[in-house]
Amino acid sequence: MQNRADLHSHTTASDGTCEPKENVRLAKEAGLAAIAITDHDIVAGIPEAIEAGKALGIEVVPGVEISSSAHGQDIHVLGYYIPYDDEAFRQTLSGLRETRHERNKMIIAKLQELGLDITLEAVYARKQEPDKNIGRPHIAEELMRKGYVRTMEEAFDKYLGKGGLAYANPERITPEQAIRLIKSAGGVAVLAHPGLYGDDELVGDLIVHGLDGIEVWHPDNDREAVIRYRQLAEDNGLIMTGGSDFHGWRGEEPYHAMLGSSTTSTEAVEQLKNIARQRQRA
Ligand SMILES: [Zn+2]
Ligand SMILES: [Zn+2]
Repeated sequence: MQNRADLHSHTTASDGTCEPKENVRLAKEAGLAAIAITDHDIVAGIPEAIEAGKALGIEVVPGVEISSSAHGQDIHVLGYYIPYDDEAFRQTLSGLRETRHERNKMIIAKLQELGLDITLEAVYARKQEPDKNIGRPHIAEELMRKGYVRTMEEAFDKYLGKGGLAYANPERITPEQAIRLIKSAGGVAVLAHPGLYGDDELVGDLIVHGLDGIEVWHPDNDREAVIRYRQLAEDNGLIMTGGSDFHGWRGEEPYHAMLGSSTTSTEAVEQLKNIARQRQRA
């Protein structure tokens, strides 16, 4: 594992349950050389992680996972080496998070229409700090607490996931816009978990629109998808990244997958860094 990097993880800055420094500690424990913090539309967890990385001798790659949508489907674009301490960039992300809030409102309204006793206030009370992201996992927790469902999975299957009774998906920026936003800020744009979309035409389109890399290794990319996206990356000269999409714990179980369970080589980290360096110099 010495030369491995997990380039996809979430913290309490968005919908993960571990503090940034805890992700870094787990990366150390897993024997990784590098870890990226890629919270949803927010970069607030990065400074703490970098601090922890220095203390533990783990390279921390600053990142973000931008939510966009195409053809009614959520498409996530990872941005690496984004200017996480730049106020204008932070403001732009804050604008994107408003959409998440809109979506929460729509979902709660639908749940109430279905006769469920759940309020936006109760869900938002699950987070203390105003700057932190509330998303579907928090709504699922509230549904569990109220006894409407027993598991996170059931909450998504029945209500919150695509095709669920309370599914909602307001307009977001397009993945092309997300790519542009990341690159114009000097970062490197990578398509997250392409295996999840079942839409390789879209993947091809986004490559044409300037994608720098593709997340080849991810818990939602099955073995065939890994082979396919690896080939696609090779054919198009794209960086091949990988990550677990670790979100902390749901009870005893790691959610989405254990940190370090999907990785890429540190060579990919160097490639990301080089592109960002060139872009920031330009
Ligand atoms: Zn994602
Ligand atoms: Zn993610």
